Amino acid sequence: MLHRYVDPSKMDIKSECLEFDDIYLGERVKGRVFRGFEVVTPGDDQGIEVIGELTNVIGIWIEAGGVSDEAAMALEALIGETVNRFGGVEYKFRKENVEIIVSDESMHRFTPDCLAKVLHDSFTSIPGVKSVKIRLILDEDEFERAREEAAKIHRQREEYRVSEDEVTDFYACTSCQYYLLNHVCIISPDRPSPCGTAWPEAKAAEELEAVHYYSRVEKGKKAGNDEFTGVDDAVKKMTEGKVEKIKLHSVLAFPPLTGLYSEAIVFYIPEKDGFGIVDRGYKKKTPIGLTFDEMERIIAGQQVEGFVGISFAYMKSEKFLKGGGGWKRVVWVSPGVYAYICKFIDENLLKEVKVG
Ligand code: SF4
Repeated sequence: MLHRYVDPSKMDIKSECLEFDDIYLGERVKGRVFRGFEVVTPGDDQGIEVIGELTNVIGIWIEAGGVSDEAAMALEALIGETVNRFGGVEYKFRKENVEIIVSDESMHRFTPDCLAKVLHDSFTSIPGVKSVKIRLILDEDEFERAREEAAKIHRQREEYRVSEDEVTDFYACTSCQYYLLNHVCIISPDRPSPCGTAWPEAKAAEELEAVHYYSRVEKGKKAGNDEFTGVDDAVKKMTEGKVEKIKLHSVLAFPPLTGLYSEAIVFYIPEKDGFGIVDRGYKKKTPIGLTFDEMERIIAGQQVEGFVGISFAYMKSEKFLKGGGGWKRVVWVSPGVYAYICKFIDENLLKEVKVG
């Protein structure tokens, strides 16, 4: 995920032990295998600490200053991205299952100090990160203890959910403005963007300041079930008055704008007074006589009542189309959408849905 926000290839990093370059990405290495784990947590500590001597394990615990837990979580992907740029070193798997493989030729030059320094430089180059502490845990007893602690942090993060009511800020994305003048997507905890960006990802991207197209939007006061004053102000400003307001979970009245990369489109079927959902992979006509591509051409960058672009992730939201009746109002879906929703939608509701 994070490579969308932070590009390690643009970081100016020098390695004093092994060669460090993009050309080594994807290199398959045979050699000595170290068991590892990775975790990034928010924290204010700084510097480098290496605990123990290099034997069989390498635990990587990084504290990043000035970032939220969401951003810290996103930054974990940067560890593998960085280590895989060493020549003769391969970094496999994530979290508690990491393996670091070092070729026999590279082994004598692969030092913990060098690894720690390159990781330190890599994390320090991220604009939103204010301080960095790299802790390499090589002592086996300490490794097991820390690995268990990291696993606990990862489990808690997986269970963490927030709703629109619990946060003060949503995020706006204007990336599609390159092609769609005045377009903006609003991303809330209950409504990932049509292209699938979730609220924690947008929050992390905005905090890390690595791209310019995400911005924080104070949601303001509720102006109805799925409308917020701060969101309306932001949308009005970002669309230069073209769109006055949006209702986040609506299709028929003031739906959100649709960007270029929607994974699916919800459309109104007047004869049924219900909704259809078609995914990008479905190439046939839908019940309203339009294909996905034809609908997309009509609605991209626009607020068009009766149509709205959505992501698969949004289908799992508790607020899914709440402004229009939710799943009860869905009467038709494409096979790709059915394959996805049949795992979590109530059987009785599914029976009422026709599959294209
Ligand atoms: S569709 Fe995706 S990339 Fe385009 S503006 Fe919306 S969130 Fe950004």
